[in-house]
Amino acid sequence: APLSIGVDVGGTKIACGVLRGEELIERQVQPTPETGWEAVLDAVAAQVRALQAAHPGAQSIGVGVPGPLNAERTRVKFAPNIYGFTDVPLIDGLRERLHLTAAQTLVLENDAKAAALAEAHLGAARGSESSIYVTVSTGIGAGLVLHGRLWRGRHGVAGELGHVTVQPGGPVSGAGLDGALEAVASGTAIARDASYALNREVSTAEAFALAEQGHPAARRVVTQAMRHIGIALADLQKVIDPEVFVIGGGVSAVGDYFFQGVQQAADEYAGGFAPVTIRRAQLGQSAGVVGAALSALHG
Ligand code: BGC
Repeated sequence: APLSIGVDVGGTKIACGVLRGEELIERQVQPTPETGWEAVLDAVAAQVRALQAAHPGAQSIGVGVPGPLNAERTRVKFAPNIYGFTDVPLIDGLRERLHLTAAQTLVLENDAKAAALAEAHLGAARGSESSIYVTVSTGIGAGLVLHGRLWRGRHGVAGELGHVTVQPGGPVSGAGLDGALEAVASGTAIARDASYALNREVSTAEAFALAEQGHPAARRVVTQAMRHIGIALADLQKVIDPEVFVIGGGVSAVGDYFFQGVQQAADEYAGGFAPVTIRRAQLGQSAGVVGAALSALHG
């Protein structure tokens, strides 16, 4: 089976790995540099070089990034949750750093779209005609797969769910929009609100653990976030009507409590139009890496 390298650039960490057929045969994780985009590209290039040295057969490389891309998929318009990541010439910058030959493929993809592709082809939405993958992590993003193919939209921003307005006048997102979904319901927002409510530093995971134990303030914060996410899915059901939703990303790793809360809100706001079917990401935290590698293989 052909080998390909996948990289998932996140707000806090860069994960990368090698895909052989349907199997991820290696995976590495490093923190994301916080000193601007050139440092991020240097870090990505170093990780890719190490994988290339270990797996010389890997000729195609896919890179997933947490932000909208230009229509040609050569640049990242901006990454709302990475410092200094604005108008980044990612393809040129990496081709130069990696000294790629003409025979070597380098493909850029949005992180949520890459993960959506992975879950649709190899994961929880396998066999579905239509699916929407939603990642709830540092930010919130989505990828629509219709008839087995990604729907990017006219400008490439289809699926930018984290920046839809759910609470005008509310907290501002990394894209500068007040009351955006990710400003009220992402992992970052939950940690911020829980820390404020409890008067000390509280991580997202701790906020959920406390909520499960019945801590009233923590429960209020995470319930609010889960409701917003569930409502967003119920809205998407009415607009796109997919067969299935798949949720992944760091926050969803919390497990049952999170999925029950989101499902409950989605059911409540489905309004009798159609059921909202929600599944857990099967590829877990590797969906981004696998999806980036798949994008590189399939162009
Ligand atoms: C970005 C999306 C990304 C999502 C998850 C959002 O802030 O705008 O492009 O998919 O975060 O990383």
